[in-house]
Amino acid sequence: MTARLPTKHPTSQRSTSQRIEHQDVEGLRVGRILTQLTSSCILYRVGATVIDTGPPNQWRTVRRFLQERDVTRVVVTHHHEDHSGNLARAHQDLGAPVFSPPAAVAPIAAGFNLKPYQWAIWGKPRRVESQPIPDQIDLGNGRRLQAISAPGHSHDMTCYLEPDRGFLFTGDLYIASKTRYLRSDEDIRQQIISLRRILTLDFETVFCSHRGVLESGRDALGKKLDFLVELCERVHHLRNEGRDIPEITRMLVGREGLMTLLTGFHFSKRNLIASCYNAVLPQQAVAKVRPR
Ligand SMILES: [Zn+2]
Repeated sequence: MTARLPTKHPTSQRSTSQRIEHQDVEGLRVGRILTQLTSSCILYRVGATVIDTGPPNQWRTVRRFLQERDVTRVVVTHHHEDHSGNLARAHQDLGAPVFSPPAAVAPIAAGFNLKPYQWAIWGKPRRVESQPIPDQIDLGNGRRLQAISAPGHSHDMTCYLEPDRGFLFTGDLYIASKTRYLRSDEDIRQQIISLRRILTLDFETVFCSHRGVLESGRDALGKKLDFLVELCERVHHLRNEGRDIPEITRMLVGREGLMTLLTGFHFSKRNLIASCYNAVLPQQAVAKVRPR
């Protein structure tokens, strides 16, 4: 799950959808705009494989997208409700085989706690038994997807690489190069390690679940890694001066904003600084990313 602040003007609750195409990859952005907090999520279809399923309250739109073509399998990048939200419906209503990262199988089968704002914006997913995703997924026509674990945003976050074309489906690994808020259960140290490892792979185009298609996706991920490493270094410098987390938060990212209040402190600036404060970075993750 992710949330970000959009336009200034408040609007009443409404749903939106938007088609995305890049070569033969088709995408559908679905979501709901609620007051000043907007979140939408993009499903991608490559061949007969669908990656992510959108939030539960968007099922009618998602179902039409799934029914347009034969679907061999539906996979998710992680268990958050805006990604796995319709996995159960895809399986139970349409009979699609459903897969998730091994660490996501249990929460998707047993259900997981949602905050009130998550219920309001995305709805509650049904439970389903999904199969653990294999390391290699055969797309047909000689193409394949490779599943790559990339924890940090969540413990089960997984990217899918199509090596032939250098396409990388990143789920919520990227979202933005810079951030001022962090979810309470995200781990900056793990995000840095995952970004560093992902950047050793051969890819150029990123398919982000929230930002859409980034043709210079490698550069974008490199910028995010640099931003997080530099932020950690600044936080550690201030920590070494004896400053505490609330003080460093005010100095580097300012006072808490509307996002913090709307999410009941699930997202906050303090979470971001605290995760940096407590991160001990491995040496290889500190090295700056250089463009190829
Ligand atoms: Zn997420």
